[in-house]
Amino acid sequence: DEMKKFIYKSYGRKGEDVVNMNNAAVDKGSSVTKIEVPAAWAKIDIKKHTDTREIPEFIREVMEPMNALKGDDLPVSAFKGREDGTFPSGTSAYEKRGIAVNVPEWQPNECIQCNQCSYVCPHAAIRPFLLTEEELANAPKDTKTIQGIPGALKAYKFKIQVSVLDCTGCGNCADVCPAKNKALIMKPLETQMAEADRWYYLHDKVGYKDNVVDKFLNVKNSQFSQPLFEFSGACAGCGETPYLKSITQLFGDRMIASNATGCSSIYSGSAPSMPYTHNKMGRGPAWANSLFEDNAEFGLGLSLGTSKMRERIALKMKSAIAAGSVKEETKAAFEEWLRDMQNAEASRTASARVIEACSKEKSAVCEEILSLRQYLIKKSHWIIGGDGWAYDIGYGGLDHVLASGEDVNVIVLDTEVYSNTGGQASKSTPAGAVAKFAASGKKIRKKDLGQMAMSYGYVYVAQVAMGSSNAQYLKALKEAEAYPGPSLIIAYSPCINHGLRNGMGKTQAQQKFAVESGYWHLYRYNPLLEQEGKNPFTLDSKEPDWSRFQDFLKSEVRYTSLIQTFPGQAEILFKAAEENAKWRYKAYQRLAAMVYEPAAKE
Ligand code: SF4
Ligand code: SF4
Ligand code: MG
Repeated sequence: DEMKKFIYKSYGRKGEDVVNMNNAAVDKGSSVTKIEVPAAWAKIDIKKHTDTREIPEFIREVMEPMNALKGDDLPVSAFKGREDGTFPSGTSAYEKRGIAVNVPEWQPNECIQCNQCSYVCPHAAIRPFLLTEEELANAPKDTKTIQGIPGALKAYKFKIQVSVLDCTGCGNCADVCPAKNKALIMKPLETQMAEADRWYYLHDKVGYKDNVVDKFLNVKNSQFSQPLFEFSGACAGCGETPYLKSITQLFGDRMIASNATGCSSIYSGSAPSMPYTHNKMGRGPAWANSLFEDNAEFGLGLSLGTSKMRERIALKMKSAIAAGSVKEETKAAFEEWLRDMQNAEASRTASARVIEACSKEKSAVCEEILSLRQYLIKKSHWIIGGDGWAYDIGYGGLDHVLASGEDVNVIVLDTEVYSNTGGQASKSTPAGAVAKFAASGKKIRKKDLGQMAMSYGYVYVAQVAMGSSNAQYLKALKEAEAYPGPSLIIAYSPCINHGLRNGMGKTQAQQKFAVESGYWHLYRYNPLLEQEGKNPFTLDSKEPDWSRFQDFLKSEVRYTSLIQTFPGQAEILFKAAEENAKWRYKAYQRLAAMVYEPAAKE
């Protein structure tokens, strides 16, 4: 009875069903069965590793003791060679936590090879692989594949592979699978353990054939590229992590990220676990976390630092060319690099030529350029954080960085609350939502960060929700990265703080609902279009079905709890929330309808 009283106190505002479910759990407590532990378990032999991989020294010597809560016992000598405090990337792949109750089982005969499952997985635990006949012949027994669909994939066998020990069992992959009879079915983990070895084989031995099709072309193709952000400690079903994973699939091998404090900094860098990883060439994102209040500036600093080093390389090359102090072949390589240094893909080939040519020369300039080789390939700078950072505490800095004109990319993972500290209201919280410091519902409307940034006229801005349109997000990502100035992407991210009534297995579906009901809108603002005499603003989402707006609010506990606690307020504030959403949508419609004149020719 005491427990039930407390349940009412803790969860009463979340509604009757939540209280009843908790009470039912208490009632079931009376039917607990005692199970005798076999005496032999006292002498159980704990195998250190069940996986067949070679375990790197850092994992054995530092990570495993830390994960076993023995970090304080590590001798200073364990950190020899690591004095600078950096951690190697890719350590989360060695945790293999096996926390899912149910994991997806792939049904080859139903699969239409769309790769949607892989795109939405918050933990990068499900991926498509392409196998040659020979690779299939060497695969673990009973590995099932299907023929790649006509076109470039036809020469390969296709397989969706789940890393069952990294899956959190959220169910989003199975939920979005568009196959008629569902090609993914959630099954108990213990029935799927044979997949663990298959994962190692496909990931380590078969690898990622990301050159068979153009990975930038569409969502499906992008998924053949290796995610360089995997198995983070984010909540099951997290709405934020799929956005970050996609960035790493397109630009990860030349990415530098600065991350504001918040959920994203915690799941991206909970020492010793690092979900940012590297490919077979050893390339992957370099990542660092900075404070809430200065992350944008920190990212700007990193970007300016890179620019300066690249300018220095350019200067050295130019003076070497002018002085005629390098061989013809080296001169040609320098000229190619100078031409392509700002072109991401072309700078790869040019950089390889420079390294090759310089390695054959003994000159001082070549030695210096080789010492700066990490700056040769154009970098992709990302500044990452949540709404608590971007709308609130770090806004001054963010505004400064956007105004700087520097070529940086900002992604705001918008959960409409301070997620990591327990759900406090931010300026992104919409009217009517219950959050900490807004117990009776937020009274004022959400700030329109996108419009504020657009007012500069030279900042690329996009508002996205991948569960509503995964193609629009991919487009925004490519445009933002290619834009030669500051870019801002505001990404709608369902979160455990929202209290989705349908659960976190529906975070992608909830994004779709948000857009269809008019709660969230999709657009892109590309200043380059204005230079062509076109309207820079594109409204990507259709006219919403406003009759569903209130249903959307009622699908999340952050809104419904207000009905329990302040029913009168709820009615007023929910109406206000709808009015605000319409007001925003109309503003976007006006922007989309603006007529632009082609610039007069001189
Ligand atoms: Fe990924 Fe969730 Fe599917 Fe597991 S259940 S593979 S974590 S989307
Ligand atoms: Fe196959 Fe379904 Fe994944 Fe599409 S979402 S690739 S149909 S399993
Ligand atoms: Mg947030």
